[in-house]
Amino acid sequence: MRQDQEDPYQRRSAPVYAAADRAGSAGSSRTTVGSPRPVLYDAVLLDRDGTLIEDVPYNGDPEKVRPVPGARAALDRLRAAGLRLAVVTNQSGLARGYFTGEQMRAVHARVEELLGRFDAWLVCPHDDADGCGCRKPAPGLVYAAAGELGTTASRCVLVGDIGRDVGAALAAGAAGVLVPTPVTRPEEIAAAGWVATDLPAAVDEILRRQQAVRPATPTGDPVRTALVVRSDSAGDVLVTGPAIRAVAAGAQRVVLLCGPRGRAAADLLPGVDEIIEHPLPWIDPTPGPVDPEAVRSLTARLSAIGADQAVVFTSFHQSALPLALLLRMAGVGRIAAISDDYPGSLLDVRHRVPVGVPEPERALSLAAAAGHRLPDGDEPVLRLRRDAVPPRPADLGDPGYVVLHPGSAASSRACPPEVATRIAGALTAAGHRVLVTGSSDERDVTARVAAAGGTDLGGRTDLAGLAGIVADASAVVVGNTGPAHLAAASGVPVVSLFAPTVPFGQWGPYRVPTVRLGDAAAPCRDTRAASCPVPGHPCLSGIDPDEVVDALRMLAVSGGGGR
Ligand SMILES: [Zn+2]
Repeated sequence: MRQDQEDPYQRRSAPVYAAADRAGSAGSSRTTVGSPRPVLYDAVLLDRDGTLIEDVPYNGDPEKVRPVPGARAALDRLRAAGLRLAVVTNQSGLARGYFTGEQMRAVHARVEELLGRFDAWLVCPHDDADGCGCRKPAPGLVYAAAGELGTTASRCVLVGDIGRDVGAALAAGAAGVLVPTPVTRPEEIAAAGWVATDLPAAVDEILRRQQAVRPATPTGDPVRTALVVRSDSAGDVLVTGPAIRAVAAGAQRVVLLCGPRGRAAADLLPGVDEIIEHPLPWIDPTPGPVDPEAVRSLTARLSAIGADQAVVFTSFHQSALPLALLLRMAGVGRIAAISDDYPGSLLDVRHRVPVGVPEPERALSLAAAAGHRLPDGDEPVLRLRRDAVPPRPADLGDPGYVVLHPGSAASSRACPPEVATRIAGALTAAGHRVLVTGSSDERDVTARVAAAGGTDLGGRTDLAGLAGIVADASAVVVGNTGPAHLAAASGVPVVSLFAPTVPFGQWGPYRVPTVRLGDAAAPCRDTRAASCPVPGHPCLSGIDPDEVVDALRMLAVSGGGGR
């Protein structure tokens, strides 16, 4: 039985701007009547100085407006694709009296003369000292732009030239593209999950990603039973959720093959009718020997499903081909997978994806290549089955606490215990109620961290129970590990203590307000190491607890239990 059609935890936006962010659904985009709503984006938000036009500090003179190369044509491509456009710009020169509002409006009129009309202009007139909620990297302008354009922040992508732009996008749950200029700092480039060489290249990639999740051809024969496959750990399974829902929308029955480490997450996914759990020795990070009898029994089981289509999801460093061979032997007629390696006759749909695409979109693009898309009204966000998530235990008190989850199955992505301990103390001192969570083998750490401020829940929950606790949090402070994706699935903002062993753009919390902390340029970058290869774990050990307190403020999470 499929019990998945709605989810109470979905897409809560940050409180301060909730009204602006709630607007918009079908009909808000400018696409032709009758064409389906785009899956990913309704709007592109653009920084002004250094992104659309050359940066002339505190410019009040229309004569000095110079578009960046290729800007007009690039913007026209976005307009032609039905995307709405807004400018989101910090203009502290207003606060400082360097130019007047009238001069600024003359500059904007000149920008529109040269670059065409924008659907909205959002300007922060404040200075850093004003402590407003709109000066980037605060997310206020992004929420306001989304509201004016009749959509939500998570359906926007923001293009800018400095870290403040990307930070504002992430803090609102929007996508952020960094187009560096000579003034962009190297650490801002390292921290950005999505970097493009210039504005036309950013636009090309936005349009490519938008197109990639749209099925190229109609599904063809209706699919009675689809087999979807996602081996590996809980986080991997959770980020594949949107793609599995897309397949479910086009199939009468969905069977999910997962591994033992992903089983608890599989139980939480909407759209799945039946689960088969079986380790795959070519995927598992600590595989046992290949047992011919186990392979024969898996093949027989796959055959018994009677699937008329199989969609095999993998990470970029995993191969779908061994399983494709078993599926062929099991008689599955249509097999789709991502494969850079030559698949011979193992695949009917051989899909390829550039590096850097968020894992949920990477999987959605494979589902699209196999003929499936999310139906209108099902946003491409992570979601959980409401009936699979138990309510949080009553003894935890009211919602609105901060969950601090220091551990990770891969120690390279865990927060160093001494850092987590200081974070717990700083959060408590700032008035936050802290719940420290972890698995049963992390109880030593959670006890130590909670002793500095907070309630120790180490070993008290399974994954579903943790999901219930996370769903009522005002924010989660966590590394790159499963609970970050549980938070995303419940629309709960994330302070991401992100070790750069894998790309943030692929594995960062998806479509949920996020602040990224940690050294993105640390030597462990892109090593995929399971345990930290660098003495002292420098990517995360340098995090100042006050940065976490500031990040929560940026996410509009206040101390004292408010949200
Ligand atoms: Zn402001």
